Amino acid sequence: MLDRLLQFKDNSVRAEFESGKLHPRLLIVLLALAGYAIVRWGIVITVTDIFRKRTTDSGVHEAWRGVDVRSRDWPKEAADDILRWLNESFCYDQARPTLKVAMIHDADQGPGLSGIHLHLQVSGNPRKGWE
Ligand SMILES: [Zn+2]
Repeated sequence: MLDRLLQFKDNSVRAEFESGKLHPRLLIVLLALAGYAIVRWGIVITVTDIFRKRTTDSGVHEAWRGVDVRSRDWPKEAADDILRWLNESFCYDQARPTLKVAMIHDADQGPGLSGIHLHLQVSGNPRKGWE
Protein backbone atom coordinates (compact mmCIF):
# COMPACT_ATOMS: atom_id res chain seq x y z
CA MET A 1 0.00 0.00 0.00
CA LEU A 2 2.67 2.49 1.02
CA ASP A 3 4.68 1.55 -2.08
CA ARG A 4 1.99 3.11 -4.21
CA LEU A 5 2.35 6.40 -2.32
CA LEU A 6 6.06 6.57 -1.66
CA GLN A 7 9.04 5.33 -3.61
CA PHE A 8 12.77 5.58 -3.07
CA LYS A 9 15.66 6.29 -5.42
CA ASP A 10 17.45 3.14 -4.24
CA ASN A 11 17.58 0.63 -1.41
CA SER A 12 19.99 2.67 0.69
CA VAL A 13 17.54 5.58 0.79
CA ARG A 14 14.75 3.13 1.60
CA ALA A 15 16.85 1.69 4.44
CA GLU A 16 17.41 5.19 5.81
CA PHE A 17 13.66 5.79 5.77
CA GLU A 18 13.01 2.46 7.47
CA SER A 19 15.69 3.07 10.10
CA GLY A 20 13.21 5.10 12.13
CA LYS A 21 15.73 7.94 12.53
CA LEU A 22 13.74 10.43 10.50
CA HIS A 23 12.45 13.28 12.66
CA PRO A 24 8.80 12.49 13.46
CA ARG A 25 7.54 15.86 12.23
CA LEU A 26 9.37 15.33 8.96
CA LEU A 27 7.73 11.92 8.59
CA ILE A 28 4.34 13.59 8.96
CA VAL A 29 5.17 16.23 6.34
CA LEU A 30 6.49 13.60 3.93
CA LEU A 31 3.44 11.36 4.27
CA ALA A 32 1.12 14.36 3.93
CA LEU A 33 2.96 15.33 0.75
CA ALA A 34 2.66 11.79 -0.61
CA GLY A 35 -1.08 11.81 0.03
CA TYR A 36 -1.61 15.25 -1.45
CA ALA A 37 0.51 14.59 -4.54
CA ILE A 38 -1.30 11.39 -5.46
CA VAL A 39 -4.80 12.70 -4.77
CA ARG A 40 -4.40 16.14 -6.34
CA TRP A 41 -1.96 15.39 -9.17
CA GLY A 42 -1.62 11.61 -9.54
CA ILE A 43 2.07 11.95 -8.71
CA VAL A 44 3.87 9.21 -6.77
CA ILE A 45 6.58 10.72 -4.58
CA THR A 46 10.16 9.49 -4.98
CA VAL A 47 12.53 10.20 -2.11
CA THR A 48 16.04 10.74 -3.46
CA ASP A 49 18.08 11.66 -0.39
CA ILE A 50 17.68 11.53 3.37
CA PHE A 51 20.86 11.34 5.40
CA ARG A 52 23.81 13.38 4.20
CA LYS A 53 26.84 14.63 6.10
CA ARG A 54 26.83 18.39 6.43
CA THR A 55 28.26 19.87 3.27
CA THR A 56 27.02 23.17 1.95
CA ASP A 57 23.54 22.99 3.42
CA SER A 58 22.36 23.92 6.89
CA GLY A 59 22.96 20.48 8.34
CA VAL A 60 19.29 19.40 8.41
CA HIS A 61 20.06 16.24 6.43
CA GLU A 62 22.76 15.28 8.91
CA ALA A 63 20.25 15.84 11.73
CA TRP A 64 17.61 13.63 10.02
CA ARG A 65 15.40 16.70 9.63
CA GLY A 66 15.77 17.07 5.86
CA VAL A 67 14.55 14.98 2.93
CA ASP A 68 14.91 15.50 -0.83
CA VAL A 69 12.14 14.50 -3.23
CA ARG A 70 12.39 14.23 -7.03
CA SER A 71 10.48 17.05 -8.67
CA ARG A 72 12.25 17.63 -11.99
CA ASP A 73 9.64 15.61 -13.90
CA TRP A 74 6.62 17.32 -12.36
CA PRO A 75 4.58 19.74 -14.48
CA LYS A 76 5.34 23.30 -13.39
CA GLU A 77 1.73 23.84 -12.37
CA ALA A 78 1.90 20.81 -10.07
CA ALA A 79 5.25 21.79 -8.59
CA ASP A 80 4.01 25.32 -7.84
CA ASP A 81 0.80 24.01 -6.26
CA ILE A 82 2.55 21.36 -4.16
CA LEU A 83 5.10 23.88 -2.89
CA ARG A 84 2.37 26.38 -2.00
CA TRP A 85 0.28 23.71 -0.27
CA LEU A 86 3.18 22.46 1.84
CA ASN A 87 4.19 25.91 3.05
CA GLU A 88 0.60 26.90 3.79
CA SER A 89 -0.03 23.66 5.68
CA PHE A 90 3.18 23.43 7.70
CA CYS A 91 5.13 26.08 9.54
CA TYR A 92 8.87 25.56 9.94
CA ASP A 93 9.33 27.71 13.02
CA GLN A 94 7.08 30.55 14.16
CA ALA A 95 10.08 32.40 15.53
CA ARG A 96 11.85 32.27 12.17
CA PRO A 97 9.19 32.97 9.53
CA THR A 98 11.66 33.36 6.69
CA LEU A 99 12.52 29.66 6.91
CA LYS A 100 10.19 27.34 4.99
CA VAL A 101 9.25 23.69 5.29
CA ALA A 102 9.48 23.22 1.52
CA MET A 103 11.54 24.70 -1.28
CA ILE A 104 12.42 23.72 -4.81
CA HIS A 105 16.01 24.40 -5.64
CA ASP A 106 18.83 23.26 -7.86
CA ALA A 107 21.68 21.27 -6.41
CA ASP A 108 24.61 21.64 -8.76
CA GLN A 109 25.07 18.32 -10.53
CA GLY A 110 27.46 19.54 -13.18
CA PRO A 111 26.89 20.78 -16.75
CA GLY A 112 23.76 19.48 -18.43
CA LEU A 113 22.44 17.65 -15.37
CA SER A 114 19.36 18.90 -13.61
CA GLY A 115 19.64 18.97 -9.86
CA ILE A 116 16.19 20.47 -9.40
CA HIS A 117 14.49 18.86 -6.42
CA LEU A 118 12.03 19.51 -3.62
CA HIS A 119 13.73 19.90 -0.27
CA LEU A 120 11.65 19.33 2.89
CA GLN A 121 12.84 20.31 6.33
CA VAL A 122 11.51 20.65 9.86
CA SER A 123 12.85 22.61 12.79
CA GLY A 124 14.63 20.84 15.62
CA ASN A 125 13.03 23.29 18.05
CA PRO A 126 10.49 21.18 19.97
CA ARG A 127 8.33 24.15 20.93
CA LYS A 128 7.77 25.59 17.47
CA GLY A 129 6.34 24.81 14.16
CA TRP A 130 2.89 23.31 14.48
CA GLU A 131 0.53 25.98 15.72
ZN1 LIG B 1 17.74 18.77 0.84
